[in-house]
Amino acid sequence: MRKKIVAGNWKMNKLSDSAKALFEEICAHSQQFGNVTVMVAPPSLYLAAFAKSATSKVCIGAQDVSAHNDEGAYTGEFSAAMLKSTGGRYAIVGHSERRSYHGETDALIAKKIRACLDAEINPVYCCGESLQERESGKHVQVVQSQINEALSGFSADELKTLVIAYEPVWAIGTGKTATTEQAQEMHADIRQFVSSKFGADFAKEMRILYGGSCKPSNAKELFSQKDVDGGLIGGASLNADDFLAIIKAAQ
Ligand code: PEP
Repeated sequence: MRKKIVAGNWKMNKLSDSAKALFEEICAHSQQFGNVTVMVAPPSLYLAAFAKSATSKVCIGAQDVSAHNDEGAYTGEFSAAMLKSTGGRYAIVGHSERRSYHGETDALIAKKIRACLDAEINPVYCCGESLQERESGKHVQVVQSQINEALSGFSADELKTLVIAYEPVWAIGTGKTATTEQAQEMHADIRQFVSSKFGADFAKEMRILYGGSCKPSNAKELFSQKDVDGGLIGGASLNADDFLAIIKAAQ
């Protein structure tokens, strides 16, 4: 039985005081999270303070992490080992905004996954197709090739803590959600593809999150799909009522 995850990706939003207030409000409801793993990925400046004040029911994650785990001259970066040392548990890698604004490739993302695993940080690997790729019927092929490139250098044993987030780029921040059928179809395909690479037992246990304009009104239906194990939530994670309603929908 896969435990559901609801993860909030705050992106570059909220000044310190309002970030703290939102985080405290989420933590104040943590007794109601039941069996759902809740992860919050604030801007990295706030990570350490949040990790210190988090309850045991709220995990802290980073929105990105360096591909380097050795200390050194990597201005502006922080390592998975540093994240771990502050109490962080997860790191999102390969988000479509990192891919499009920072030119991140699956080869680089594979290094970030390696850095996470070496530091015992759980990687949340994002993949997903563009609108044009979806409209030309290439979405399955595109996502499989992303996964292939990012994960081929690992063994099933190494990837035990990996979470995949399927995030169709055309649904991120656009208000356009994939239909439940589109989400389930792609999640089932991802699980099948992962099974062919790493074995059925591994694929059965691996969590696959949906991301892309997930909100209180569509979360329950999305999360009720057989292969949807929760969500990576952007915009709706910035409002406590919405985020808490999405967590409830995962229970
Ligand atoms: C995201 O950026 O990971 C995301 C899913 O954003 P939104 O929920 O705003 O579409």
